[in-house]
Amino acid sequence: MLRIGYGFDSHEFKPGIPLIIGGVRLQHTHGLGGHSDGDLLLHAITDALLGAVAAPDIGALFPPSDPKWKGADSSVFLAEALRRVHEAGYRICNLDTTLVMAAPKIGPHAQAIRDRVAELMGVEPSAVGIKAKTPEGLGVDNAAQCHAVVLLIK
Ligand code: MG
Repeated sequence: MLRIGYGFDSHEFKPGIPLIIGGVRLQHTHGLGGHSDGDLLLHAITDALLGAVAAPDIGALFPPSDPKWKGADSSVFLAEALRRVHEAGYRICNLDTTLVMAAPKIGPHAQAIRDRVAELMGVEPSAVGIKAKTPEGLGVDNAAQCHAVVLLIK
């Protein structure tokens, strides 16, 4: 049996904080604000995994109002989603993601991000798609967005 899951996230750029995408810290003037470490790629993947097994979403499981998650490493959220996927009897076929952000360029870092996400998810890097686009015509250069889809098999 197959299940598909889709996740989306966005975070606003803030000056002087670390930029962490897919568990990889990138050099940039701005980072992504938020209650946790702002890792929108891991947040989108987490929501895709949770959606695939019809679990509550990331905001319900890890409420931003809970001080426990302030500055949290987003791999904690991903680990909980994976636990639920495995508990439901599924494993990951593959996932694909698209980041939408004006800067920095993701291309030079895509392989490092792919390798780290694969490691966190316990899959081969060949099962992880990391793509990026600039938000042309959208007028949202102040924010980063991410879409993610996952395919699970039982
Ligand atoms: Mg988020």
